[in-house]
Amino acid sequence: MGAEIIDGKAIANDILDELRFRVIQRKDKGLSIPKLVAVVVGEDPASRTYVTNKSQAASDVGMDSDVVMIPESTDDSKLSAILGDLNDRSDVHGIILQLPIPSHLDEVQAISSICLEKDVDGLTDASLGRLSRGDPVHSPATPSGILEILRRTNISTEGSHAVIVGRSMLVGRPLSIMLSQRGSGLNAIVTLVHTGARSLGKFTRSADILIVATGQAKTITADLVSPGTTVIDVGTNWILDSTRKNGRRLVGDVDFEGVKTVAKAVTPVPGGVGPMTVAMLLSNTLSAAEILDGR
Ligand code: NDP
Repeated sequence: MGAEIIDGKAIANDILDELRFRVIQRKDKGLSIPKLVAVVVGEDPASRTYVTNKSQAASDVGMDSDVVMIPESTDDSKLSAILGDLNDRSDVHGIILQLPIPSHLDEVQAISSICLEKDVDGLTDASLGRLSRGDPVHSPATPSGILEILRRTNISTEGSHAVIVGRSMLVGRPLSIMLSQRGSGLNAIVTLVHTGARSLGKFTRSADILIVATGQAKTITADLVSPGTTVIDVGTNWILDSTRKNGRRLVGDVDFEGVKTVAKAVTPVPGGVGPMTVAMLLSNTLSAAEILDGR
């Protein structure tokens, strides 16, 4: 029997519907419309596409959004000042700095210029510190999206062995912190695997839940997965495909065709974790507006 294919897009659409309803309720009560501002430094076309998609999703749920474009020639102090101004604006609830930023800029310093309440990507030092303590203000969107997929598909993490492949500050590391915390939909036994692993399969084959965020297509093949495992594929890799009009195709970090013959359940790419990331970002933006109302 083949794996259940988890429909991340459908789950994300449910969350977006819930957010749309909550935004209408805010309007009815005369409360502010949540506003997300994305800051983009430089001309990277992929970054522009990502923020356009996020702005479109915000407007689809009735939120306001804006994009601040900053020339590549900016310096650390100018970028910090722009983010500081957004922190001070009462009409702005969520701020994201689209990554990567040009290499002459200090990424960690720039991210951490965003105040805790408006850091809807959950990536500032303050946010990650609160997350580690088990008391997050906003949790990072991609790890939150993965947890939400597991919750909404009734895949229990309680006492399960969750193996995460990839230790980035964007995905693997915060997810390992979140999954290992006490609480409903958490409380997993977590193994965090990286390129230092001498035998990847030794770890991945022992997973109840296997989450893959390596940025390398086909890191996980069928022989690395045990029957009964739920596989969450975070990866987004463009590979050449001459059968497609644009000559390329989006794939994850998991060999989907092979793994779906073995696993209990698997998320596809596209249509798995990606849509959940956007939904959780908007969920954080709504929470930010609620927190800022209560100030
Ligand atoms: P990074 O490149 O920052 O980190 C990759 C991690 O994977 C590193 O820790 C690296 O180990 C580890 N790794 C790489 N190859 C292997 C391997 N063969 N065996 C074991 N570990 C390995 O990537 P990100 O975390 O930022 O992103 C991962 C993927 O997720 C990318 O494809 C990215 O595009 C995608 N992504 C998708 C999102 C979405 O919304 N769908 C959001 C964010 C990311 P080491 O530390 O030892 O080098």
